[in-house]
Amino acid sequence: MKTLVLLGPAGSGKGTQAEKLIEKFHLQKVETGELVREKGKEDSELGRFVHTINISGKHLPDDVVTQLIREAFAKLDASRGLIIDGYPRTLVQAQTLGMLLKEVHRLPLQMVYVRVSDAVARERLLKRAVCSGCKTILASRDLTVCPKCGSKIEVRAYDTDVAAINKRLTWFHEKVMPAIEYYRKKGMVVEVSGESDPDTVFQTIIKAIE
Ligand SMILES: [Zn+2]
Repeated sequence: MKTLVLLGPAGSGKGTQAEKLIEKFHLQKVETGELVREKGKEDSELGRFVHTINISGKHLPDDVVTQLIREAFAKLDASRGLIIDGYPRTLVQAQTLGMLLKEVHRLPLQMVYVRVSDAVARERLLKRAVCSGCKTILASRDLTVCPKCGSKIEVRAYDTDVAAINKRLTWFHEKVMPAIEYYRKKGMVVEVSGESDPDTVFQTIIKAIE
């Protein structure tokens, strides 16, 4: 069964696209951010380690991320397709992903790279907010309550600080792009512009993957 892998920098709108793809193809999602938050709640040595790294804003070591992904893959519903959001994030993780997917019979993979300029990403991040409950990202800061779950909307400190935003964009170019290039060389990447409105981007993705 084919697996979709969605990558793009913060502000590319890939989270929105993941939701649309999930709905259209009835996919199940593995998202590293979610795995990290869940593992961080666990009362275990690994759980505490993950929590500490996560709240410090650092990135987890590759082997820990691999373990979280492998645990998530073991719980997949065999009857539904898979979309992976936010992984792989380094060249090492990219090299590992094929093996992990092979273990659960989920190859081939197709990577969708949602590309936006740093200027567009920066502009979007400076406007957005996030739900404190379900973690849905909202494109504007006008709402105080989440339309999905009713929790409070927050503006994350790292979305208001241009230096922090630039740091994340630089991290994407330095760490994540090599992972994308690794799969691009194998002819497994479709690249779409994420700078249009979400529906247009979605149509472009659908055309590219079908
Ligand atoms: Zn919510």
